[in-house]
Amino acid sequence: MEQTGRRDRGGPVSTASPVSSARVEGVSFAELREAFRFLWPYFRPYRRDLTLGYGALLLKNGAGASMPLIVKAGVDSLGTGFELSVTLQYCAWMIVAIFLKGFFQFWMRVLLVNVSRDVEYDLRNDIFRNLVGLSGDFFARTRTGDVLARATNDLGAVRMMAGPGVMYWMETVTLAIVVLAIMFTADWRLTLAALLPAPIVSVAVGILGSKIHTYFQAIQEKFSDISSMVQENLHGVRVVRAYVQEEAEQAHFARLNREYIVHNLKLAKVSGLFMPLLELLIGISFLMVLAVGGWQMMRGEMTVGDYVMFNSFMGLLVWPMIAMGWVVNLTQRGMASLKRIREFLEERPSIAGPPHPVTPAAPDGRIVFRNVSYRHEHGFALRNVNLEIPAGATIAIVGPTGSGKSTFAKLIPRLIDPSEGEVLVDGVPVERQSLEALRGGIAMVPQETFLFSSTVLENIRFGAPSASVEEARAAAASAGLGPDLEGFPEGLDTRVGERGVTLSGGQKQRAAIARALLANPRILILDDALASVDNITEERILRELETAMSGRTTILISHRISTIRQAQRIVVLRHGEIVESGSHEELMARRGYYADLCERQLIEAELESIS
Ligand code: ADP
Ligand code: MG
Repeated sequence: MEQTGRRDRGGPVSTASPVSSARVEGVSFAELREAFRFLWPYFRPYRRDLTLGYGALLLKNGAGASMPLIVKAGVDSLGTGFELSVTLQYCAWMIVAIFLKGFFQFWMRVLLVNVSRDVEYDLRNDIFRNLVGLSGDFFARTRTGDVLARATNDLGAVRMMAGPGVMYWMETVTLAIVVLAIMFTADWRLTLAALLPAPIVSVAVGILGSKIHTYFQAIQEKFSDISSMVQENLHGVRVVRAYVQEEAEQAHFARLNREYIVHNLKLAKVSGLFMPLLELLIGISFLMVLAVGGWQMMRGEMTVGDYVMFNSFMGLLVWPMIAMGWVVNLTQRGMASLKRIREFLEERPSIAGPPHPVTPAAPDGRIVFRNVSYRHEHGFALRNVNLEIPAGATIAIVGPTGSGKSTFAKLIPRLIDPSEGEVLVDGVPVERQSLEALRGGIAMVPQETFLFSSTVLENIRFGAPSASVEEARAAAASAGLGPDLEGFPEGLDTRVGERGVTLSGGQKQRAAIARALLANPRILILDDALASVDNITEERILRELETAMSGRTTILISHRISTIRQAQRIVVLRHGEIVESGSHEELMARRGYYADLCERQLIEAELESIS
């Protein structure tokens, strides 16, 4: 996340994203069919409303198309002389037609727009469900802002395409078929004259449509950039202040925002061309009808009623024609967005459980590492590690920063998979167990703890929602949070602020330990989980933890000797390899890396106590 942000800042920012330049073509019919094949399962549950909605659409169009016919009959009846009762009768028919049209139009909109909302709701749930199941590597390469943009903006665009877009398209097509059929039967020459500008319309729609598609895609990419930057700055607001980078950040934001606006302005220009162009072409149609129709009327080839009917029909087609331009617009946007959403939905977790998981016969918390190596793009984080941790043992792992301690810890609950070798938990290789069962037996407190913005109690109960308040309190006490709770204004019910900002680093770590204990795991892993507390507090917590640790396999990771000297076994990692292992006394006797580290820390502690 950090890296992407920095990279953006480096070189000159190009206005055209690679995506926008690569996709200049419009949307093909095959692509549309593909899109609707994908969306159909989402519409399926709402078949009934969909049918009713489109039924209402047809009835609405029927009522609409009957209106010019009523007008024609009314006008023609005047030819034989004016009679009030007859005219009133046509007026009554007209009122009925208008009423029916309005009635069915209302239900068409309500039903079909509601269905599109339901589909949006289901899609959003699916996006979230897929997202929470993804593995760490996805989140390492995806920015939060990008995720947010796709789950909000893009989803909205897809809804507009699949809901109102399809609705207006159907409305236009069915109405055009009925109206053109009537017009052709009445007078095919006049109809052809009226349709003369139609080919120009379709060409214009095609050209402008593909431009809209391109700009819209670029806009969505920029929106992702902007969301990411806002999100990162909110997250890192303290860092920004501490390094007095407010102005630099503002300048960078202004630049992103400008690019966003530039693309939006381009889109507005293209979209803005649509309306005047359509109105111009529609005007030409009316002109053609006036010229050709007038000439025919003068020659007595056409009645006034027919002429009025023609004009009414054309008036009826104006709105759907305009809507058509809008539909093309919506479709271009919707297709661009659907592509981005499907990329997310098609992401599969890189780490998944096997189809036929093996359940360990005797789940006791035993852990075995067999020739385990973990390779990343720059080299090895772990190399050929062999280690056996007996059930219920407490072992400590010590080593300098970057020696592979966290990598070791992450391999146990399969947050990552080894490049070589295998890890066994409860006597069964981890990749042959179900992920839920494996992770359900392990609680890991990572270096950077995370608290949800809710109460202390809810945070502690996160892994065991059914635990009682008393159990949560006991877990908090075991984690050394007892005295702090008394200081909190509302005890366990104190809210911790977003991501726990109102707690100190040490309090957050202890809350995270309490959460791990309450989950009652067979295996407890504390990855530098006490780094943010002072030595004295640490000793107190370790003493309190002792009872909680008994009966569980515990892995204590630390770079502090005081934390780990009590462990039954201490493993020293350097450059991803185990270089020493044994009890505190054994390692001291070896006078190796551990003994050095120990001596150094003793001297440091003495210096501290002097000053
Ligand atoms: P420790 O917890 O002992 O400080 P880690 O296990 O976190 O060490 O990391 C060991 C080394 O491997 C570090 O140098 C780290 O930068 C590197 N590393 C671990 N995972 C990756 C990865 N996915 N990509 C690049 N480097 C990684
Ligand atoms: Mg670490």
